[in-house]
Amino acid sequence: MTEGPAQLEKTPSGRTRLPPWFRRPLGGGATFAKLSSLVEGLGLHTVCQSARCPNQGECWTAGTATFMILGDVCTRGCRYCAVPKGRPQPLDMDEPRRVGSAVLSMNLRHAVITSVDRDDVPDGGASVWAATIREIRRQAPGCAVEVLIPDFRRSAPGSLDVVLAERPDIVNHNIETVPRLFPMARKGGDYRFSLDVLRRAAEADPSRPAKSGIMLGLGERDDEVRDVLRDLRAAGVQIVSMGQYLAPEKNAFYLPVHRFVTPDEFAAWAAWGRELGFRHVEAGPLVRSSYHAEKQAGGSRPRGEDAAE
Ligand code: SF4
Repeated sequence: MTEGPAQLEKTPSGRTRLPPWFRRPLGGGATFAKLSSLVEGLGLHTVCQSARCPNQGECWTAGTATFMILGDVCTRGCRYCAVPKGRPQPLDMDEPRRVGSAVLSMNLRHAVITSVDRDDVPDGGASVWAATIREIRRQAPGCAVEVLIPDFRRSAPGSLDVVLAERPDIVNHNIETVPRLFPMARKGGDYRFSLDVLRRAAEADPSRPAKSGIMLGLGERDDEVRDVLRDLRAAGVQIVSMGQYLAPEKNAFYLPVHRFVTPDEFAAWAAWGRELGFRHVEAGPLVRSSYHAEKQAGGSRPRGEDAAE
């Protein structure tokens, strides 16, 4: 693991040239096409598209996607995220039913749901989150539900509890970066508040894995990353994902890539995280919190199936 800014190579158009390990298949084929038309036909949003995830080709070709609920416009202004920002549409109360329908059509065993931040509504969208979990359980009862939730920091007290009360199989809240970089990268968030979200999720049901994720390459130091991993473990987090930050586009709003962390460095982080006691550390340049989520969860099963073994 090394530190400090690297001299990043530029393309003729001035964009940062990606290292070779970012070459990805474009994806395609019948499954990809079916998924595209399903998402479009149901009027749903995916973080795969909205966040311009580099893994979309692989994931969609394999028939997996991460649905993004509460619309596709976020009320926060995180400077690492490609999701559109601004004034969102009113909440769509039929969205949970359509997400459930999509999960059923895709025959998923493990569904990952995330959302934009909705600081404009009193409960931050928690009631829609709860309805979405219920709909997946109703329409696709064999499917595990992993929720990648916002912090509900500007929402009514109890909003997080509304989501936790539906007993999702995995609760994920990404810490995203080290505390020193929060004011620059994630100014609507608060490092300690996010840790508390994770602690509350872990304490609400110790048998359910709490999960978090961090991006590397934003200018963090190794000692700061180690402190974050220690804090996550202390909060009860069991699964952590670590991936390379990629700037959504060349635009002064978005933070530039500070440096590219090599695959070997990620492997070292994974080993270190396991020594720290995480049940699973998924680390690599292309890792996102929903990337191979079922594997990260160790093949999480829906509640009720545990007793069968
Ligand atoms: S890694 Fe997650 S967000 Fe990216 S394409 Fe795969 S499912 Fe979608």
